[in-house]
Amino acid sequence: MSVRVCCVCQRPLEEGARSIGRRLYCDEHYAKVTRGRGHLWQSGWALVAALVGFVLLVVGIDSFAQPTLEGRSLVVAGVVLSLVPAVLWLVFFYLQDRLEPEPKRYVAGIFVLGALLAGAVGIPLVNDLFQVREWLYESPLVHLVGGILVIGFIQEFLKYAAVRYTLFDSAEFDERIDGIIYGTAAGLGYATMLNIHYVVSNAGVDLSVGVIRMVITSLAQASFAGIVGYFLAQDKFEGKPVWWMPCGLALAAVLNGLFIFVRDLAMVRGLEFNPWNGLIVATLIALIILAALFWLMRRANQATLAEA
Ligand SMILES: [Zn+2]
Repeated sequence: MSVRVCCVCQRPLEEGARSIGRRLYCDEHYAKVTRGRGHLWQSGWALVAALVGFVLLVVGIDSFAQPTLEGRSLVVAGVVLSLVPAVLWLVFFYLQDRLEPEPKRYVAGIFVLGALLAGAVGIPLVNDLFQVREWLYESPLVHLVGGILVIGFIQEFLKYAAVRYTLFDSAEFDERIDGIIYGTAAGLGYATMLNIHYVVSNAGVDLSVGVIRMVITSLAQASFAGIVGYFLAQDKFEGKPVWWMPCGLALAAVLNGLFIFVRDLAMVRGLEFNPWNGLIVATLIALIILAALFWLMRRANQATLAEA
């Protein structure tokens, strides 16, 4: 006979303890899991708006002041711009977090881990081992399938690993929304490293085009990581079947690959290059995913509360 313990804190439970799906809870953690965290969602919407505002600001400065940056200063400017999406996210997170505090060093730690995994594993795998750039644009089918099976799966698996093999089993992961918080942190860390790599490997980038690409990457990586985080949280708190997490990863990878395909189609038409189209696609994707996650999370919390 198995011992009955709370799935968050592992404390032994009395007969008749509360449960969600197949998981058992102590009273304290049962109450915590379903917290709705309205402020967090508001800061999600505000962040998407702020990222678009950041693009407009940099493009505005670039076209009016026309700064002439070269060599090292262009690289430094690019790297500084790469960090802005993550800083904006942190600012919004800290602002809402005064109301409902979350252990910030864990959030920052997952962000750094996401960046390290991108730099040490993800980017070398995609660029060097699979040499994606050599073959991805051969045909529309290759573009789509390669985007899903190689880029999508590698990126989403690493963001998953950043959360799954660190905080997932700890008591710091004790609310449904934590999956989305930590997932997004890993995704933004991943995006930040991709952006720094983009700047450094091109020895600096055109500021306007560069900042549009950076925000596209940040919005997309954070959104898909939010989906991974949602599946992680449901797996932890409801005890989903074995196929649940692979399905969640596959969904995120498919959306990631589809996004790459649509973004590239939207940005490049023949000889014409229009990065704004990519930004529109990424912003729409981020808003749709944010709304979907908000709805799913509210539905899960309401179902739990209704059962109680
Ligand atoms: Zn507990």
